[in-house]
Amino acid sequence: MNADAVPPRDNPSEGQSTGATEEKWGYDLYPERRGDKYKPSLSSIAWKGEGREHIDKIKCERNVWNCVQKSPIIKLMMASLKSAGCEIDIRRHISCEVCDVSVSGGYDPELNQVVVCQNVARSEGMTQGVLAHEFIHMFDYCRNKLDFKNVEHLACTEIRAANLTHCSFFSAMGQGDASPFHIAKAHQDCVKNKAAASVMAVRRVSKEEAMEVVNRVFDKCYNDLEPIGRRVRRNSFDMQKAYSERFIYGYDD
Ligand SMILES: [Zn+2]
Repeated sequence: MNADAVPPRDNPSEGQSTGATEEKWGYDLYPERRGDKYKPSLSSIAWKGEGREHIDKIKCERNVWNCVQKSPIIKLMMASLKSAGCEIDIRRHISCEVCDVSVSGGYDPELNQVVVCQNVARSEGMTQGVLAHEFIHMFDYCRNKLDFKNVEHLACTEIRAANLTHCSFFSAMGQGDASPFHIAKAHQDCVKNKAAASVMAVRRVSKEEAMEVVNRVFDKCYNDLEPIGRRVRRNSFDMQKAYSERFIYGYDD
């Protein structure tokens, strides 16, 4: 299971399976993945307002549907997955579930499913972010037969996901009067930190160990821009451009 930490938190320490003697590969963060349906107790319904997970699921599925229909970046990525021979059936490959609150989404390679955490990723924008990020993992798994238990493979796909989605969104916001050199440096730092945090969310490694493996594979993975072809900046035409140029990369719709 490849877990992805909630975006504003760069250090998802709660996501680590501390105290366990064997690796859980992140499955502990997704109770419904273990076959347990999330069942709130009667007292938690009464006292904490839980028991609304069926409403959350309907909202989450509607957000997913809207992204699939309207979001250029999501449509591009679905087209690229299809042309790589990994066509997405949204009923089969995308699942809205209750997760640990330290994660917003994940990719389960055993079932080839993207998990959207319905109790965390509540807005359409956040759902788009989760889908875009997890589709990069799905693409890498499909294209390269990625082994998520190999920490270098894991670091590489997290670098690619952070580079192509998360950090490109954020770096565009803070550009202002920064010099191009500083933007490039800030972008690389964002990718390294985000990728290391994602590695730490599923593997019991220290920040130093996570950063070390990220640095080891960084150049190769940072420069691999498939399937988007360019880093996507929010509030720019990049998303539309990437989608309209999908034919150049050999993706048909
Ligand atoms: Zn990830």
